[in-house]
Amino acid sequence: MNLLNTAKNILLNVLPTHCPLCNLRAYQGECCQSCESELPWLKQTCKRCGYTLSINAQNCGACLKNSPPYDHTVALFRYEPPIDHVLLSVKFRKHLAYAHMLGEIMTRKIQTEYLDKTLPTLILPVPLHQKRLKERGYNQALEIVRPIARHLNIPLSLHDCVRTMETQPQAMVSANQRKQNVRKAFTLVGKIQAKHVAIFDDVVTTGSTVAEITQILKKNGVEKVDVWCCARTL
Ligand SMILES: [Zn+2]
Ligand SMILES: [Zn+2]
Repeated sequence: MNLLNTAKNILLNVLPTHCPLCNLRAYQGECCQSCESELPWLKQTCKRCGYTLSINAQNCGACLKNSPPYDHTVALFRYEPPIDHVLLSVKFRKHLAYAHMLGEIMTRKIQTEYLDKTLPTLILPVPLHQKRLKERGYNQALEIVRPIARHLNIPLSLHDCVRTMETQPQAMVSANQRKQNVRKAFTLVGKIQAKHVAIFDDVVTTGSTVAEITQILKKNGVEKVDVWCCARTL
């Protein structure tokens, strides 16, 4: 057992915490290994959009034909049990233990994914409209991304981009209405100095929301945009 594991075990005994999924003892609120191995991990995905691939390739057919404006996507899970339940609990019931757990898992995935790449220098969680933020009291994407930003030491952009139009939830509109639904829904109000930005969202469905934000960022001097999300629904 190496020194790090010994230290981790000592801490575990001093600070006994539990796996948020099965309530067994785990390290500082992280998911236990047995639960983690059963999560619906996305295995082979398109590097550009995060779409599931059945063959070992870099990009999906859709991206080869017509690439989205963002450059790279890191997606963790398929939107399936128990992840769908976990994400809905973070979104509507402020289940912060789940948010923390997702943040820890996502951090590890990002660290692996960027071993041979340069990390973005700013993280932008997809903003909620002011009205929805007031109703809910928090932005679920921000709750998940906070530990990621802290571990990776990357600042968060919290006020540069605002959702100026109250849009219908993407799940409520058909796939071809989604682009229209988010068009001009966001406005940049701050000056973004970073050239490489990661947009973070809890769930990405068609990618219309992140594509819209990417276009705004790229029109305003950002050169590279990555998308980080916990789940990809398609
Ligand atoms: Zn567990
Ligand atoms: Zn793709």
